[in-house]
Amino acid sequence: MGDKNFRLPRTIVPRRYGLRISADLDRWEFHGSANIDVQVLESTRTVFLHALDLEIDAASAFYAGTTHDADEMQIDTDAETVTLKFAEPLPTGSVRLDLRFRGRILDRLRGFYRSEKDGLRYAATQFEAADARRAFPCFDEPAFKARFALVLEVPAGNVAIANGAEVARRTLPDGRTEFRFSETPPISTYLVAWCIGPFESTPVAFTPSGVPVRVWLPRGLADKGIFARDAHVQSLAALEEYTAIPYPYAKVDAIGVPDFEAGAMENPGAITYRLTLIAADPERASIPTRKGIFATAAHELTHMWWGDLVTMAWWDDLWLNESFATFVGSKVTAELNPQWGLWRDFVASLQRPFQLDALSSTHPISFDVANAKQAAERFDVITYWKGAAVVRMIENFLGADVFRQGVRAYLQQYRESNATADDFWRALETASGRELAGLASAWIRQAGHPVLQLRTRFTHDGVEIEGEQRRFFADPAQHETGDGTLWPVPVVWKYRTARGIEEQRILWEGRRTSVHLPGALWVYPNGGASGFYRYVLDAA
Ligand SMILES: [Zn+2]
Repeated sequence: MGDKNFRLPRTIVPRRYGLRISADLDRWEFHGSANIDVQVLESTRTVFLHALDLEIDAASAFYAGTTHDADEMQIDTDAETVTLKFAEPLPTGSVRLDLRFRGRILDRLRGFYRSEKDGLRYAATQFEAADARRAFPCFDEPAFKARFALVLEVPAGNVAIANGAEVARRTLPDGRTEFRFSETPPISTYLVAWCIGPFESTPVAFTPSGVPVRVWLPRGLADKGIFARDAHVQSLAALEEYTAIPYPYAKVDAIGVPDFEAGAMENPGAITYRLTLIAADPERASIPTRKGIFATAAHELTHMWWGDLVTMAWWDDLWLNESFATFVGSKVTAELNPQWGLWRDFVASLQRPFQLDALSSTHPISFDVANAKQAAERFDVITYWKGAAVVRMIENFLGADVFRQGVRAYLQQYRESNATADDFWRALETASGRELAGLASAWIRQAGHPVLQLRTRFTHDGVEIEGEQRRFFADPAQHETGDGTLWPVPVVWKYRTARGIEEQRILWEGRRTSVHLPGALWVYPNGGASGFYRYVLDAA
């Protein structure tokens, strides 16, 4: 029996996959080959790869000019691996692993899966978190980033879209069509994607920096992709400016897939969407529909830098991947569409996490994750929205410019590589000159949130505030008892003086604090409505 928490050894590292997939949409079957250039760091007879629901027809290793067939292949359905055993140990250095395999195009919305609309057949992939292994044998953990050179063979009359740009198309002797795609920069396996079917696209539009952008929709719907295409163009330009890093991939194809489980998936260069979040009637679409499409595009495009270019080292930081994309996606959408009042929506979206987080059954934003499935299963409104709110609180506390400076430094330092949440806090610490690790860890690893009880006393010289914090529980008895949890609370005091509106930022540490706001005529203890805390104001 295998171990479902099995992690691949770090002694063999993939560099490049040459991948050929031949899809049969009549039989919902595929077969393929993977030629994986790896670096062997410690000589070994045993190679572990992830593989699930696949028949492996052949496996060999090529080095020193010779092919060495694997002596033995063991499938382990618990660990979701295939283990190759060789007679001779693989030498350290460059080795190519060659595998041939077959599988079904699945009728569930993961791996390489089928989709139908109006009697027409489509096939698409959804690999996050750990389903690339259902489509090809691979090193299916986010830290194993590699280049992908993909060739797809598809039935005549279909198009194929993938992460790379199409570089060649030809008709095969049997009448099917072969699509060849440009090699990707290093990406994680969960971000590899392809879509096949009678898709139709909008005309290409270009960002000011020259990135081609298209929307693909099922046959007959392409004119409903214009709004989404233009939302991608605008958001992409804003994100190049925000990150100070040019868009890292060849092009943007945004694809509406007839059957899709999540809202969207940030595959670099080939972002997939559920139809309702990408297709809109150009004349009659409602404002909520437009907001949804725009914000989703901005969220997914944020991932091109945050998640795709710099990738979490392991799934325990999935919360930050999503929280950051939610926050910066909202920021971009709000800036480009000031008429929509997006931050009002954002704050309104926090009602639910505030409610859930006031129950004793709530959980911390971040938790240890033994396997990829756990990360996905425990992903909920707390992780997503409270996470985004905490990121926003930190931004508001540091100031948007300093925060962006930290983001840029972090992306530069870890581009095409992996990083952890702690790496991000360190980048923010360097940018701001403030200690943040303790603050971040308290908000992320402690369940719940505080209520600040504030007693204000107005004097001839402004206001004196005496404050006490405690964890907020919805249940009054439980609230009375409390549980002793304390947070370093970044408070933005906003107040009015004779000179106008002023702000004071303090980091409230410990149970009690006192603040003097000189000249204050009134005070609001959550400037920018960006703090994930409650407060009660009592006049003394
Ligand atoms: Zn996301």
